[in-house]
Amino acid sequence: MAAESPPPDDLDEDTSATNNDQGPVFILYLDEPDLSRELDLLKKWVADLLTPTYLHEPTPDHPWCPQWWDHDEAVALLHGIWLAWQKLTDPQSCDFTDPDRWHFDNLYPALDRLRAAGGPLQRCMTDRNKPTHRPAQHVRWTDELPHQPQHMSVPLTSQPITHRT
Ligand SMILES: [Zn+2]
Repeated sequence: MAAESPPPDDLDEDTSATNNDQGPVFILYLDEPDLSRELDLLKKWVADLLTPTYLHEPTPDHPWCPQWWDHDEAVALLHGIWLAWQKLTDPQSCDFTDPDRWHFDNLYPALDRLRAAGGPLQRCMTDRNKPTHRPAQHVRWTDELPHQPQHMSVPLTSQPITHRT
């Protein structure tokens, strides 16, 4: 008898992108079309659960961005807490205390960083009536350091220090 072929891969379409048996892939490492698919699912989760339940009025101390997906750090943070939410609220595997853990271990620390006055959305909306979106300027870490003028260098053998008496 011939071996049966494996069943078709018809896993739940509502879960995040996975790397076969190795678990989810960090969203910033995804290429198209997986990136767009994952981002669409994340946007839906943020709109359906996060925004109406956990996001309060934007203020200068707690900014928000109506186009958060244009901020890589926001995408990474929100994707991380979404992945954790999927694991810690899955009725097939979660414990009674996992939803509570999700709040205090994942959600609140991520929101504290995301909505901090100096966080990734700091240049965006701080007033509900003034939707603002100004993506951050990223550090260009490949830039060369500016040339140090010769007179700034200090020789190892400097003149002896004299004290006034
Ligand atoms: Zn923005």
